[in-house]
Amino acid sequence: MIYIGNHLSSTKGFLAMGKAATKLGGNTFAFFTRNPRGGKAKDIDPADAHKLMEYIEQNGFGKLVAHAPYTMNLCSDKPDIREFAKNMLIDDMKRMEYTPNQYYNFHPGSHVGQGVEAAISIITEAINEAMFPEMTTTILLETMAGKGTEIGRNFEELKSIIDGVKDKSHIGVCLDTCHVWDGGYDIVNDFDEVLDEFDQVIGLEYLKAIHINDSMNPCGAHKDRHEKIGEGHIGNDAFRKIVNNPRVQGLPFILETPNDDAGYAKEIEMIKSWQK
Ligand code: FE
Ligand code: FE
Ligand code: ZN
Repeated sequence: MIYIGNHLSSTKGFLAMGKAATKLGGNTFAFFTRNPRGGKAKDIDPADAHKLMEYIEQNGFGKLVAHAPYTMNLCSDKPDIREFAKNMLIDDMKRMEYTPNQYYNFHPGSHVGQGVEAAISIITEAINEAMFPEMTTTILLETMAGKGTEIGRNFEELKSIIDGVKDKSHIGVCLDTCHVWDGGYDIVNDFDEVLDEFDQVIGLEYLKAIHINDSMNPCGAHKDRHEKIGEGHIGNDAFRKIVNNPRVQGLPFILETPNDDAGYAKEIEMIKSWQK
């Protein structure tokens, strides 16, 4: 069994997100830790966060997958933006402890001309700085489509980041189906072969979550335009196989498709109906 859910708005607080997930048929969800465009985070209500933790426990939810703001670029070429991003990560790691033992996913960043190697060492340094001995959160690096100068365009780049992270027990990967497809991994013809490659390069034990999105573009397009499940170039036959693959059972699957609530409920129902 996989866990399935979608990205939810956090404006009504933590417990409200848990209930919203249930209403849509889900048993996991994603949320932004702060305004997706970045900037100041609103204060956390510890009681509300605790109520959510009780709720997900009672209702058999899978791991939640929080998402950092899209604008957080740890390897920006501008020192002030880099510093801002790092402080955001440090702050988010503290905030995540109000909802302990969950996942925190982020886009590794764009190197904007500095080169992959330099960027990777900046990213690993920031992660090491944000980690602390008592932390319970696992930080997930997202596989990226390889748009522009994005880091994480292939498994090798993510492996290099992980290599530089000191605490390997709190780092993992979130595989975005649209992104890997756009990045040139043919998950339609052979998802198992892509998982083999993931295993050889990174190690399957680091695969902690899936972003389940169809793609508006063909394999290798490096575009990153999400499509509704079944309406893009990946298609339902491939997704049916993906959600039933024995090597991804137990993982949280998060929908980031262009949908309203009704659309998400429909996709969640469809995916659940596929599960053997
Ligand atoms: Fe993402
Ligand atoms: Fe994603
Ligand atoms: Zn994307």
